[in-house]
Amino acid sequence: MPICQTDLPLDWYQEEFRPYAEEYLALGDRTPETVLPWMDGYLRPALRELGGELMLLAHYYMGGEIVKLVERYGGHIADSYALAMQAVRHPEKKIFVESAVHFMAESIALLAADDQSVYITNPKSGCTMEMMAKDFMVRPAIERLRERYGDDLVVVAYMNTSGRVKALAGETGGAVCTSSNAAAVMRWAMRQGSKILFVPDQHLGRNVAARVQIPAAEVVTLPAGHAGGDALEQPDTLASLDAARLILWGSFCGVHTIFEPSHVEYWRSQGCEVIVHPECPREVVELADGAGSTHYLWNRVMDAERGCRFAVATEGHFVRNLREQAAQRGIEVHHMAEIPGRSDGGCGCATMSRNDPPHLVALLDLLRQGKPPELNRVYAGDAVDEISGIRERLPQAERARVSRFARRALERMIEVTEAASSG
Ligand code: SF4
Repeated sequence: MPICQTDLPLDWYQEEFRPYAEEYLALGDRTPETVLPWMDGYLRPALRELGGELMLLAHYYMGGEIVKLVERYGGHIADSYALAMQAVRHPEKKIFVESAVHFMAESIALLAADDQSVYITNPKSGCTMEMMAKDFMVRPAIERLRERYGDDLVVVAYMNTSGRVKALAGETGGAVCTSSNAAAVMRWAMRQGSKILFVPDQHLGRNVAARVQIPAAEVVTLPAGHAGGDALEQPDTLASLDAARLILWGSFCGVHTIFEPSHVEYWRSQGCEVIVHPECPREVVELADGAGSTHYLWNRVMDAERGCRFAVATEGHFVRNLREQAAQRGIEVHHMAEIPGRSDGGCGCATMSRNDPPHLVALLDLLRQGKPPELNRVYAGDAVDEISGIRERLPQAERARVSRFARRALERMIEVTEAASSG
């Protein structure tokens, strides 16, 4: 088992973390035999000191070894919905240390109580889909759409957005959703207003539209980034929006858009069941045998009979972990883009993988010493520059406002999800 990110350049580490990174890089081969004792030397004392107040968290998409390392030290691995709920579900925990991307850590912070604090191991870990839908890009579009459609407009923000964008959804009476409850939230939104703006993932939006039977002719896609708001200045765009039921923001995930229909056809011809994440393009999802969240993909494979064979289209580290676990049950798993003899292949989420052993070790050791860097502390409403890791923190009153509206949108999602599962 090679430990992930073996040769990161040191400039990926903030100043306080560099001594730890230098020690890590000096470990030579960085195999488990050298890395684990080095980590134990820092993490065991930190875990003893911080005790039952601490919760370590990671997302399924993390570089495989970080997932295993977080589990080794008693942490939890979850999808973005389950991560967001951790502070609420564990009021006895006071310090949450998350190894994943920023919007996930911020979602925990949005729902955390005042006596709970949230830290991210690498503040430069952003989600590229979220980076194309910052609040200053989305807000002008929402304002323009509200001018035109008033309360008929309902904003649905995918979990992969900042707290500020979730707050925009909350302010306009909208909701947050995840890939597992997006259809339920979309049906709810259809009952609230005649026009829905779905931010930021165009592919998830298109796939959910098909599931809730919004015709493709009633779906319009705005460009991502600043161009989204600019497009609303064009008379032609406005005319097409008047006829639309669903307006999609044009962001996408580079990890999930590598998949093609030819991948589905290849693996089906090899006798595999093909299951995909709904952030994949519509034409891929349409052809697949099943589509759903990371939770769905994991359970579909792990609940299958011995001897079953799957091709899975999602993030590469997740598929690798799934393949290892499934093999122990006699189930075969392939990454859908890894086709023998072809040059393309699966890829992992590079930004999530910026959280590596030195980041985890450094943050926990500094927490133990009572001097965690402010750069790693995550508050609701923080806007992060993913190049420098520097965050713009809102004044207290503004942070409280963002928290209130973002929570409203998150709580609406929880109500809708619970009502749908009990109904
Ligand atoms: S896999 Fe894609 S959507 Fe998920 S965090 Fe990475 S960039 Fe964002």
